This record gives sequence, C-alpha cells and structure tokens, in this order.
Amino acid sequence: MKIGIIGAMVEEITPLLKYFKNVKKIEYAQNIFYQTSYNGLDLIIAYSKIGKVNAGLTTALIIEKFNAQKVIFTGVAGAIDKGLKIGDLLVATRLVQHDVDISAFGHALGFIPESGDYIDSDKTLVALATECAKSLNINIKQGIIATGDQFVAKESLKQFICQNFNAMATEMEGAALAYVCKCLNVPFVVIRSISDDSSTDANFSFDEFLESSAKESAQLVIKMLERLA
Ligand code: SAH
Repeated sequence: MKIGIIGAMVEEITPLLKYFKNVKKIEYAQNIFYQTSYNGLDLIIAYSKIGKVNAGLTTALIIEKFNAQKVIFTGVAGAIDKGLKIGDLLVATRLVQHDVDISAFGHALGFIPESGDYIDSDKTLVALATECAKSLNINIKQGIIATGDQFVAKESLKQFICQNFNAMATEMEGAALAYVCKCLNVPFVVIRSISDDSSTDANFSFDEFLESSAKESAQLVIKMLERLA
C-alpha cells in the first residue's frame, strides 16, 4: 500500500524525514516529493507550501502521479474552540472552506454549486488517529476544521468562523486536500496540533510553538503508519 503524507510547511514534514531512512527526492511541479518505505508501506511525503491552491495541487499530484492510495495531512492549526489548548491534537471529522462566499446568490456560506461544502474525513482513519493518540497518551479531539486563505489572527474573524461553521480549529490547506481526495475517491484524514488561538497575538504563538506542535502531529502519524503496515 502507498500512503501520501502532506504538510504545508517544511517544519511539518521535517520530523518525518528525520525518522525515515533512505529517502529519495523527486523534483516535480516546482516542489520536492520524498519517497521512502516503512514496514512494508510505500510512502510519498511532501510539503505543499501554504494555502488552498498549493494544497490542492500537491494532493492531486500525490494521488495521480505518485499513486497514493490514502492521504494523511499532518500540521498545525489555530484553535477556534476554547477547549483546545496549544499542543492539543485535533482530527478533522469534516472540513469546509470558510472563505467561500457566494451568498449574494442565496447560497450558504462555504457552499459551491456542484461541489458542496462540508467534506467528511474517512471514518476508519479518524478512528485510527484517535486510538493511536490515546495509546501515546496525547490529548486528541474530533471536530470540524474550517480552511481559508487567511492566517486568522483577530477576534472578529475567529467568531465568524465559530458561528458560521461550528469549527473547532482553522488552517489554510485541509479543505482543499479533502476536496481533491473526495473527487478522486481516496480516503484521507487531516491531523492538526494547535499552535495558536487565532487571536491578535496568534503570530507570536505560532512562531513559538510551530516546531513542537508539528512534532506532536508527526509523532501521531508515525504511530498510525505502524498500525497501517
Ligand atoms: N510563518 C509563516 C506563515 C505561516 S501561515 C511565514 O511567515 O512564512 C500559517 C500556517 O499554519 C498555515 O499553513 C496554516 O495551515 C497553519 N495555521 C496555524 N495557525 C493558523 C491560524 N491561526 N490561521 C490560519 N492558519 C493557521
């Protein structure tokens, strides 16, 4: 089986690249894909770069060019739900794009005709992530992730996302990856460790906790791979 693993930033995949041996680099489409194997699983790992377009492109390539049969996203996110603290893990049950707005035509926020709004993660992978986190004694919650091409660092946008999408966390790639996986019929899961609380000083918190939170999420992915092998 071949598993695709995607982060958005180099920090999010560095813990994986350090962990796996004999990693081969393949350059394609102005990005680098890292190929390796682990306990009989073939792995293809990449960081997409930030945002929905980059995430969509990388996900499509990891499936269509590199033949991934399941896709796991690992990275960090800003908390929307008050119960989520820095370093907590969240596995997305569903994902939605909070910055899609064609409500002028009477559509719900986040909705695109013939495309939809919320996309469900693969239930088996969500259950696996949850079990693996418990076995590592790490706090994990399940909930909705809202994705948009903005770093959320103000109370009004945080409230908007909370009220309109019932999201527990926000980030900039997940729903794009989810959409591509849905269209190509590939099971996926998005795992995020909290780096900040999406408030006015989110950027300071982000810089401080990016590395430790990214490691936390990657550690869970490695545990999941042991179980998938
Ligand atoms: N510091 C970076 C930019 C980081 S953008 C630079 O200067 O280049 C934030 C990244 O972390 C995105 O990939 C996004 O998915 C995630 N993220 C973490 N906290 C977030 C928040 N509060 N709002 C949106 N995305 C967030």
